[in-house]
Amino acid sequence: MRVLVVEDEKKTASFIRKALQAEGLAVDVYGRGDDALVAATTTSFDALVLDIMLPGRDGLSVLRQLRERNISTPVLLLSARGEVNERVEGLNAGADDYLPKPFVIAELVARVQALGRRGGETKSTLLRMADLTLDTVSHRAQRGAKSFELTAREYRLLEFLMRSPGRICGRMSIIEKVWDYDFDPGTNLVDVYIKRLREKVDDNCEPKLLHTVRGIGYVMKETP
Ligand code: CA
Repeated sequence: MRVLVVEDEKKTASFIRKALQAEGLAVDVYGRGDDALVAATTTSFDALVLDIMLPGRDGLSVLRQLRERNISTPVLLLSARGEVNERVEGLNAGADDYLPKPFVIAELVARVQALGRRGGETKSTLLRMADLTLDTVSHRAQRGAKSFELTAREYRLLEFLMRSPGRICGRMSIIEKVWDYDFDPGTNLVDVYIKRLREKVDDNCEPKLLHTVRGIGYVMKETP
């Protein structure tokens, strides 16, 4: 589960980050609302922890922008004591939950985990990149007008890469996530699967989506 935390008070942000990481969640932290909006629209998160008073763009504005763009990531709003109007406004703007400061960290963690679970139920079943779609229920993939079958392992690999668009996935993280190995099998396993996947996804298609980052790993993105 990956969480975006938007909080400009450094101590609070660091406190939240540590508590969520201790529960095994991946955490990205931003201190500015405008930066967070960019991050939340370009990367897929399972939940957002969003402070209301922020530099750049306030939390309610970030929330409204996300909902206008049909991004339904569950949002937990944080706000200072007494901001009752903001709380109501936030819930109207599409927040899923609300926690006044100061809060007990265990409660924040529990609420974030609950949001992540709830989000998982309503999340779109289709992953998209350019004209490539991957159905996470039927495990079928389609590029343009051509649909193709994937083996179970090819599916897991493609899903893993498509869930991190534009992010370089190292060979070791692929081995861990797709094969569940916590050691490097020392073979060209990943390369073999990438080659097969590339034939299905990219052959005779433009733009190429599956790119090799020499010596590091692989990335899926629309631009070379
Ligand atoms: Ca603040």
